[in-house]
Amino acid sequence: MFKQFIANSGILIAGFYLISKFFPSNIHQQSPVHMRLLAGAFCGLLSIVLMFFSIPLGHGVISDLRHVPLVVVSYYGGMPSALAAGIIMGTGRFLFGNPFASIVSFFTSLAIAIGCGWISQRMKRHITITTFWLNVYSMCFVSLALFINMPDAHTYTQTLVVFWPISIVATYVAANICKDIRQSKDMLQHYKQWATTDFLTGLYNVRQFHTLFGQHLEQAKEENSCLSLILFDIDRFKLINDTYGHDGGDVILRDLGELVRSLVSKDGIAFRNGGEEFSILLSSCEHEAVTFAEHIRTTIERHPFFVQQQTVHITISIGISVFPTLATNESELFKQADIALYEAKQQGRNRTIVYKKEYLHET
Ligand code: GH3
Ligand code: MG
Ligand code: MG
Repeated sequence: MFKQFIANSGILIAGFYLISKFFPSNIHQQSPVHMRLLAGAFCGLLSIVLMFFSIPLGHGVISDLRHVPLVVVSYYGGMPSALAAGIIMGTGRFLFGNPFASIVSFFTSLAIAIGCGWISQRMKRHITITTFWLNVYSMCFVSLALFINMPDAHTYTQTLVVFWPISIVATYVAANICKDIRQSKDMLQHYKQWATTDFLTGLYNVRQFHTLFGQHLEQAKEENSCLSLILFDIDRFKLINDTYGHDGGDVILRDLGELVRSLVSKDGIAFRNGGEEFSILLSSCEHEAVTFAEHIRTTIERHPFFVQQQTVHITISIGISVFPTLATNESELFKQADIALYEAKQQGRNRTIVYKKEYLHET
């Protein structure tokens, strides 16, 4: 009996690992209901797998750790997860014969699901404590079901003596393994975001700029379409820092990032390349890129930024280059947009300049 319970524990752990692989992000009680139902359904299926490794106790009665996936999933997914797991688990019992025991098991599963769903939505304690009480609640019903199904008092007591401690340990291990899997998943997502996003503005960072720049250029080459690179730099930003301090400058950079993101939305991709220099990749040719850049420039020029209870206005200078009409590769496109930006500064700032060959000699 002990061996089978240990086998059940191993299946539980492997099952939780596989289920977690299926979900791109962690399930919690605020997740969409369909995701919580799906997580519950998977745990219900895991319960059925556990029944294949159950311990026959005589007279067609079987015992296993099928309630543990329900306990863990209801902790994370609340009532929808608990109900989905409970219904699948209860229905699955009919695959294993003994109609009377199956009917008892079905209603036991429903009672466990409703109770676990209800408790998990109200009990906001540490995972170990909450799952412990969810397990105790479930085990009371499991013990009752076994009592109804088992005429032999000796086997019944013997089963419970082994079943209760193993169920408590298995729930503890399963819940904590789930917690660890979820933590690693969360951390991986955070690291991925940190690696691609600028922390101050929330825009993509320079590393992501190089990745997406290369990808979009390849795509433009394949599709014979245009790709415009818009580089811009805040005018006289040193003066802003001198007047409002570095923190004041940061407030402007952060708000500018938000403004640029809303202006670019789905037309292009915006990046903070470093300091007060930004860029936008646009799948458009020159005319459209200039119109877009001018819209950004004039909107920023008119936008009031609030720093230390004062209204501050800023302007930007913009340089543009376009594939394939002006540049044919990544480094040329970047260099030309940079030269055009330099030219915009030279011509007095707060303007948009498209690269021309003659600017090359002025840098
Ligand atoms: P120009 O019109 O020629 O661009 O003048 P500028 O004053 O903006 O000159 P420049 O681009 O050379 O200076 C950029 C300044 O931006 C210098 C630096 O102190 C400041 N800066 C760079 N990164 C940050 C940042 O993260 N936060 C703040 N507050 N300032 C920054
Ligand atoms: Mg600069
Ligand atoms: Mg500047």
